[in-house]
Amino acid sequence: MSEHTAPADAVGAVRHTRILIVGSGLSGVGTAIRLTQEGITDFVVLERGEDVGGTWRDNTYPGAGCDVPSHLYSYSFALNPNWSRSFSPQAEIHEYIRSVADRYGVRDKHVFGCEMTGARWNDTEGHWEITSTRGSYTAEVVVSAAGVLCEPNLPDIKGISGFEGEIFHSARWNHDSDLTGKRVAVIGTGSSSVQIVPSIAPVVERLDVYQRTATWVLPHATRPYLSAERWAFRRVPGLQRLLRGMIYANRELFVLFQAKYPKAAVLLEIVARVKMFLEVRDRELRRKVTPKHRLGCKRMLVSNKYLPALGRDNVELVTDGIAEVRAHSIVTEDGTEREIDAIVLATGFHVTDSPTYNLYVGREGRTLSEVADAEGYQTYKGTAVAEFPNLFLMLGANSGLNYTSLIYIIESQIAYLVDALATMRARDLRSVEVRKDVQADYNRDLDTKMARSVWVSGGCDSWFLDSRGQNATLWPDFSFKYRRLLRTFDVDAYETTPRTR
Ligand code: NAP
Repeated sequence: MSEHTAPADAVGAVRHTRILIVGSGLSGVGTAIRLTQEGITDFVVLERGEDVGGTWRDNTYPGAGCDVPSHLYSYSFALNPNWSRSFSPQAEIHEYIRSVADRYGVRDKHVFGCEMTGARWNDTEGHWEITSTRGSYTAEVVVSAAGVLCEPNLPDIKGISGFEGEIFHSARWNHDSDLTGKRVAVIGTGSSSVQIVPSIAPVVERLDVYQRTATWVLPHATRPYLSAERWAFRRVPGLQRLLRGMIYANRELFVLFQAKYPKAAVLLEIVARVKMFLEVRDRELRRKVTPKHRLGCKRMLVSNKYLPALGRDNVELVTDGIAEVRAHSIVTEDGTEREIDAIVLATGFHVTDSPTYNLYVGREGRTLSEVADAEGYQTYKGTAVAEFPNLFLMLGANSGLNYTSLIYIIESQIAYLVDALATMRARDLRSVEVRKDVQADYNRDLDTKMARSVWVSGGCDSWFLDSRGQNATLWPDFSFKYRRLLRTFDVDAYETTPRTR
């Protein structure tokens, strides 16, 4: 096994590493730390940005924050007693990830400013061949920790490329652009938009919010922590773990009405309707923001400021479809033209059609995208993929959650990876590749569970669904069941190849 941490800078040089991790968001940093804790040092992390943090580094839009409670949204091995609020703002989470990476000494395992441009499995050599903007690597194992919500979805609207004002995506906020006193359009009304709209509404001259589909908005129980509380979190043994456990258990209840008994979501719809009644006095506006689908079908929105912001005199909720973007305006299908200076695209991300899936070429010469197009985007346990030996996806198909902390899932997948590496070492295996029949059975079981979920039966379209209308993103059961499933690496589910000496 070769020792390696240095970047493959030299032209033509190919560096070898045992494990190559792509991306340094919460998954990549968490993996790097756990490998280090296991005494595995022969790995490298390629990161296209200049810092760790992933989505929490990139999403710097005004009002950006997490709608999962702070004390749950942290690594289990690095609790933070100092969160300033019950739900953390983006900058604080980014700082948390940076500080954890520093504390556990994994920053120097990173090659920053290095984008992976391709990864091809070489079945003869039994390793991955990776190209990047900073040279080539070979790796026995690749961990794709590139994130799920990282490739901006830029809408293909007629004339949009000819817009002459400022235009940027929510995840690529242009901080050089001062929106104060400007006429601004925000396209999209998802989780990002509900944080952006109330943040910029008070400073812009006019704000047009373009809504394609209304989504349920629930109350946000956010508040600052008192210094006495933070003191207690630091000093009272077990207090933070207790709170974390209580938050975790409470969030798991969402599984009941999303995956098990969608009709029960009516109870939360009543809460959302009361909130809407209290926050939106204008009947016509209330009609526009009332969703037509079952709550939970799309990702629930959480905000106390969004609906009131829509009622401001300088804000208009536009529900007519966008027909065209012109040099200085947007024209809707009813023929109305609204002059604007800037457009914010809060239009989400490529999830089931992520361009990163084009980068991996498996044992049979097909890319992950080609396999997904032909057979649907499927994995085994959200992390392994048939035809792609020694590849572990972080947050792969059907391992996402939309109600609780994704870090719980990430840590489950890291545990599985660590056990896989130990198994490969102990049995002297060169490669492990999940069996196609096992993957097919696994996905059949998922389909059965999914069939009764709100995501399939709730009457909406969402980024959870792939082009076939199947939910390829979310885990349809309690998250502790997922953890149990990934506790040990089930080598019998895999085709294995012994190492040739
Ligand atoms: P999103 O939820 O996918 O919302 C995108 C919005 O853009 C939707 O309203 C969508 O309308 C609209 N849209 C897309 N293409 C359009 C087009 N061509 N014309 C008009 N409208 C269009 O994206 P997001 O708000 O960035 O959030 C993505 C995910 O990131 C969230 O679901 C969440 O998981 C995560 N997130 C989390 C937090 C947090 O607090 N933890 C905060 C922000 C984001 P339709 O609904 O009709 O498709």
